[in-house]
Formats: sequence, C-alpha cells, structure tokens
Amino acid sequence: MGKETGFLEYRRVNNGDVPASERIKTFAEFHTPLIAEDRRNQAARCMNCGVPFCQSAMNLGGMVTGCPLHNLIPEWNDEIYRGHDEHAFNRLHKTSNFPEFTGRVCPALCEKACMCGQNGEAVTVHDNELFLIETAFEKGYIKPLKINVRSGKKVAVIGSGPSGLAVADELNHRGHHVEVFEREDEIGGLLMYGIPNMKLDKSVIKRRRKLMEEEGVVFHTGVDVGRDKKSEELLAGFDAVVLCCGAKKARPLAVCDPATDKGVYYAVDFLTKTTKALLTGKDRSVASLKKQGGYIDAEGKHVIIVGGGDTGNDCIGTSIRMGAKSVTAIEMMPKPPVERLASNPWPEWPKVLKTDYGHEEAIHVYGEDPRVYETTIKSIVKDKKGAIKQVETVKVKFNGGKLEYVPGTEQKLKCDILLIAAGFVGCEDYTADEFAVKRGPRGTVLTADDGYHVTNTKIFCAGDMHRGQSLVVWAIAEGRACAKEVDEYLMGYTNL
Ligand SMILES: Cc1cc2nc3c(=O)[nH]c(=O)nc-3n(C[C@H](O)[C@H](O)[C@H](O)COP(=O)(O)OP(=O)(O)OC[C@H]3O[C@@H](n4cnc5c(N)ncnc54)[C@H](O)[C@@H]3O)c2cc1C
Ligand code: SF4
Repeated sequence: MGKETGFLEYRRVNNGDVPASERIKTFAEFHTPLIAEDRRNQAARCMNCGVPFCQSAMNLGGMVTGCPLHNLIPEWNDEIYRGHDEHAFNRLHKTSNFPEFTGRVCPALCEKACMCGQNGEAVTVHDNELFLIETAFEKGYIKPLKINVRSGKKVAVIGSGPSGLAVADELNHRGHHVEVFEREDEIGGLLMYGIPNMKLDKSVIKRRRKLMEEEGVVFHTGVDVGRDKKSEELLAGFDAVVLCCGAKKARPLAVCDPATDKGVYYAVDFLTKTTKALLTGKDRSVASLKKQGGYIDAEGKHVIIVGGGDTGNDCIGTSIRMGAKSVTAIEMMPKPPVERLASNPWPEWPKVLKTDYGHEEAIHVYGEDPRVYETTIKSIVKDKKGAIKQVETVKVKFNGGKLEYVPGTEQKLKCDILLIAAGFVGCEDYTADEFAVKRGPRGTVLTADDGYHVTNTKIFCAGDMHRGQSLVVWAIAEGRACAKEVDEYLMGYTNL
C-alpha cells in the first residue's frame, strides 16, 4: 500500500467527459484522461485490503462482483502510485490480455466490490487500467513477443471476438501455431461491429491485431466457416478447433419482424451498418458519416428502441448523433432504485439505476430521460407501403412470475424506426450444426462439466457461444481458461 492515508486525502476523480453538446457531433471517443500526477493520487486511494474483493469474482446473490480476470488490482495500484508504470503494466498484463478493451468498455465489476465503495467512492480501477495500457503502448513497454520455441501443434479458432482473440493470444504465446477464421472483413467480433466507435475506437482493435500478427497469429477474414469453409477441412488440418462464434441469435419481438416490416431492425444490424459506413469515411465526425451510404439513417426520425442494457443505450447514442427527432427506450422491468436497497448490500452487484452516456445525451437533447419502464409493445401500425409509422405500447406487470398487460394503459407513439435490443437467445445454429455440437437450454454449446471441451472431440468452445451473451471481460476470461484446456489436451500438461 503506497500511501496509507490516500483514501482519506483524495476524493475519487473519474476521467473527464466531453460535454454531451459537443460529443454528439462525432463518433469519436469522449473520455479525457487525467494528468499523470492526478492518476497517481487516484491509485493512492487503494487500501490494499487484506481480502481484496475487487479481484475475487465472487458469485453473490446470483450475480458476480469483482474482476473475472482476477486482475492483481491492489498490486498495480500501488505501483502506479509509486510511478513504476512499466512494472505496474507487467502485473496487469499477467492476467489480462487486452486491457485496452476492458479499460474502455468493462462495467468494472471490480469497482462494485471495492472496499472504498462500501461507505464512500470506489477506487477508479477501470480508468487506472486504461492509463496503464495506453502508457504501455505510448512508452513502448508493450512489444511483440518473440516466441522462441514452437510446439508444432496447430489450432484453428473460429471467431475473432474477445474470446477468440484471448484463446489465440494465449496459445500463440505458449508456442502453438494459431490461425483465426473470421467471417467479417475485420477482426474483433462485437468489439468491432456492435459496440459503437465512441465507446471503443476501432483503431484500438487494429493496433492489437498488428501486434498479434507480429507475434505470429494468422488471421483469415472474410471466411464464414460452415459456408465458405467446411468443418472436415479444419478438423483434418488442425490439432484442435476452438469455436468462439458469439451468441448473436437475437430475441425476436412477437409483434413485428425485421425481415418483412420496413423500418424494423435488430439493434446489432443498425449499429454494425453505422460503424461500417463510418470506417469508410475520412474521420469520425457525423458529417463524414452522412457522406457515406449503406447505413440506416435516423435523421429526422422518431426512433423507438425495445430493450435496455448496453445495446439499447448504444442505439440511443447512435440515433442522437444521426439527428433523430425523438428517441424512446422501452423497458419491461421496473425503474431500479437510485441507491442500493438494504436487501442488496455491498459487495453484491448493485442493482441500481445506471444513467449511461446515451441517456445523458438524450436528456441534453430532448430534455428528458428516454427510458419508459414496465412497458412493452402490443402492436405496430404500418402505412400502405408496409413501413412502420406507429407503435402501440402497454404497461406490464409481473403476476406470480407471469407478465401481464395492464388494461387501459395503451398508448400510441409515432415511430419511423423500431430497433429491437431485447437480448439474445444463443449462438447461431449453422456453425454449431456444422461441427455437430449439441446446444443446451440457453442455446449455447454444451461442453464437459465446468470446462470448454466438447466431449470426445478435438473441439472446444468459449465466450458467449459457451456462456451466452455476456461481457467482454467474461469473454476474455473464458478464452484464457479455454486455452489452458486446449494446451493440456495438446501437450498432456499445461503451463499456462
Ligand atoms: C451492442 C452491444 C454492446 C455491448 N457493449 C458491451 C460493453 O459496453 N461492455 C461489455 O463488457 N460488453 C458489451 N457487450 C457484450 C460483449 O460485446 C460480448 O459479450 C463479447 O463481445 C462476446 O465476445 P465473443 O468473443 O464471445 O463473441 P463476439 O464478440 O460475438 O464474436 C464472435 C465472432 O465470431 C464470428 N463468427 C461467428 N460465426 C462465424 C463463422 N461461422 N465463421 C467465422 N466467424 C464467425 C463473428 O463474426 C464475430 O466476429 C455488448 C454487446 C452488444 C451486442
Ligand atoms: S477487467 Fe473490468 S472488472 Fe477487471 S479490473 Fe478491469 S475494469 Fe475491473
């Protein structure tokens, strides 16, 4: 513990935010870092607790709190405070392959379990992590690793989201030859096409790709396994195959269908098309996006988003940047409390209201929070050409676990674009079928108990395809744990 009195002397200070009025003019990242001296004071707030819940990943009350990667948080906070950034970074990199992703998009499970947060404000673990990785790139602490001994074993990874990248990184560092197959034109999975650019600039993914390529990982983009390449070829040509294809089967709405109803889209399609168009432009400005074609433009439109969570929030931020006339986010659940209830004590995951960047921007632009709670869509109204023009909403309540409409609460809202962000129901079938792997009740691939190996095969599975739609940090944690099993399968032992 660098400074015994740090948590008493310094208040928590987050990285800055570009004001909503400015940041909505671009799709650029909008957090501004603290100067190094202030960052060291923030790290000095860490109390180096005897039992660091922040790095524990405990399951309490059915939800995990603490870092799933078991990042050695008190150790590197101490090193940041002392100005030993390179050493701090090495301790971080020991447990985390891609802090530049989690330092940007992780909801910081660590901070929810931070002891400082029990009676006051948690340590800025997430921002400290981002400071370390960006300093490491800037100062050259992170360099391509030279892998001196190769095992002669070959591993194919299908899918290049955070789980696939973590598997590839670990196994390549271990000395295996790794090839990653990705159907999109760029690697990164939902980091690339899903999470919008203002949360994670796509150059960050390209920077990591370059490093991994220099270390020996081979990426094949534009290869859709199951369609462009058959499983037999991969199973014959590689010693192990790891499926990391995500859980992108979107939960549909009963009242409409994006395939037939004009103006109705799945949220990830809307976000993906925006990012693709943005990347073809000259910069990250809204003006540059507007010069591109091929995306779904919300300018001047009434946008309704069904579903909260990260995806819903990202749709709000994206629609606002495009210049939507109105944005409404419909959520089925009741509005959470602003502060923890007595039944949800520290260090449990706090079930409290989260006002994210998109909500803040909506409040700035339209003067009110766009979220409407305990509501669903009962029907949609289309014009003569089959395009959506209104939705009929209705209040809902849970009666003995069953969702019921509240009679007489129906309302009509103008709607030109309806975005479905109602969650995901498992992995897409065609890749799983191609490898003849069984799915469980959550639509995810079944593996041996508590592990990642598909019994009696050379196939492994990790990330959302294995655990269901989750978080980037979990995808990386799964990728690391899966790589360990693959290594043991290939070598008869593992030192990962
Ligand atoms: C809009 C949105 C916002 C999110 N925001 C956050 C956030 O802020 N913070 C957070 O922690 N989490 C967030 N998440 C969740 C997070 O992105 C995922 O949990 C994580 O990306 C899962 O990683 P993965 O590697 O398992 O799968 P994915 O990231 O889904 O990657 C799977 C990859 O496999 C490829 N693939 C699939 N099938 C094939 C095939 N047959 N052949 C070749 N390639 C194939 C896909 O193209 C994709 O690139 C968000 C999710 C969404 C949808
Ligand atoms: S990965 Fe997430 S939970 Fe882990 S230390 Fe970083 S911000 Fe915290």
